[in-house]
Amino acid sequence: MQQITNHLPTAELQALDAAHHMHPFSTQSELAAKGARVITGASGVTLRDSEGVEILDAMAGLWCVNVGYGREELAEAAARQMRELPYYNTFFMTTHVPAIALSARLAELAPGHLNHVFYAGSGSEANDTNLRMVRTYWAEMGKPSKQIVISRWNAYHGSSVGSGSLGGMKGMHAQGGMPIPGIEHIDQPNWWAEGGDMSPEEFGLERARQLEKKIDELGEDNVAAFIAEPVQGAGGVIVAPDTYWPEVMRICRERDILFIADEVICGFGRTGQWFGSQTLDLAPDIMTIAKGLSSGYQPIGGSIVSDKVAEVIGATEFNHGYTYSGHPVACAVALENLRILDEEGIVTRVREDTGPYLKEKFEGLMDHPMVGEAKIVGMMGSIALTPDKAARARFASDAGTVGYMVRERCFANNLIMRHVGDRMIISPPLVISKSEIDTLIERAWQSLDEGMAAVKDAGLW
Ligand code: PMP
Repeated sequence: MQQITNHLPTAELQALDAAHHMHPFSTQSELAAKGARVITGASGVTLRDSEGVEILDAMAGLWCVNVGYGREELAEAAARQMRELPYYNTFFMTTHVPAIALSARLAELAPGHLNHVFYAGSGSEANDTNLRMVRTYWAEMGKPSKQIVISRWNAYHGSSVGSGSLGGMKGMHAQGGMPIPGIEHIDQPNWWAEGGDMSPEEFGLERARQLEKKIDELGEDNVAAFIAEPVQGAGGVIVAPDTYWPEVMRICRERDILFIADEVICGFGRTGQWFGSQTLDLAPDIMTIAKGLSSGYQPIGGSIVSDKVAEVIGATEFNHGYTYSGHPVACAVALENLRILDEEGIVTRVREDTGPYLKEKFEGLMDHPMVGEAKIVGMMGSIALTPDKAARARFASDAGTVGYMVRERCFANNLIMRHVGDRMIISPPLVISKSEIDTLIERAWQSLDEGMAAVKDAGLW
């Protein structure tokens, strides 16, 4: 067997990768033709590839490396836990100290009434848990007809059959038999793309009231819960108009349904508070967590559950769980990650210092001729690309064509920024410094200039 290490030439690594490794959310044949970028190391906010090129990671991996790359303390926490107890499960009346300690810490950090944690290996698994948990809750409450979960188009809640059905990604629904029954979608609060002639405030109310209408249409006796991300992430960092969430909260209060806040991206400082629900003043019955919980150093997710729901679920046997629910190494790393976020004042810094600095610079991108809207909350932001700002116009090409062209320029300029359709998005590590923010903005501006030239060359403007 050939030794495959960092020292092999890039082309050889790429060929082996294309031959044997099937990539998520990729067209494998395209990837094989082009060759994947091989990442070999990272520190702080900077990735290094197999050619020795340094890249500013303005996406924190997949929105997850909140404390930045290369934290020795996390490697130490993992090694220590692996030596002491590398694995044991939490089924059948057993537990271990890392799961106890992490649960107690999460109960401290989460809003008052959220005091119980059910673990999973990922955000997708956690949302599968939530689907079963809310349905079980209502069955145990003597209201077994309350089974439908309402979600939003263009939401992302994961890629398993359950969580992918909860999500509202039509491209995903088109493959593999999703959505499963019992899930209904309402429209998203994306004013830029869908607001028409309405003011953002009117539009926010209209979209919120779709929830009320949907509950009426389905019958309150059939609805278990509403699930939503405080700020839609993978849908393009869609920040709802100010009127949206207060109205949604009013509806959830008045109707007998549960509210699940999917905090997989928004949690752990991303919005400048520990949870997006705090930033946006939401009152969830369950919060989905993953990603920033361990800063991506270990795969771990979970559901933080309110006293009200936990009490009902706790009175029966909940026939659900994963081999890696509460994995001791993942829990130990997550706990250490939470210590770093807290003791280094990272969440506070995002709220009071680097977040406002990034906001000012990021909103400055609106001066670029191709940028129509800039939206940012804490350290997640997006810009809308347009050929005509005043009309909020789309490009004549398929959505995503121009976004992809700009993303390719970002890549060439050693900046990782993602595109969702023709929106460009960022979600950098929360430890990004002001001078790194300056570099991010400079590279973004340059990529927009080059992208605009390419768009014009291609006759798409
Ligand atoms: N919920 C949200 C809001 C997410 O952004 C994601 C991942 N991007 C998930 C759930 C699914 O998490 P995972 O990929 O860990 O399964």
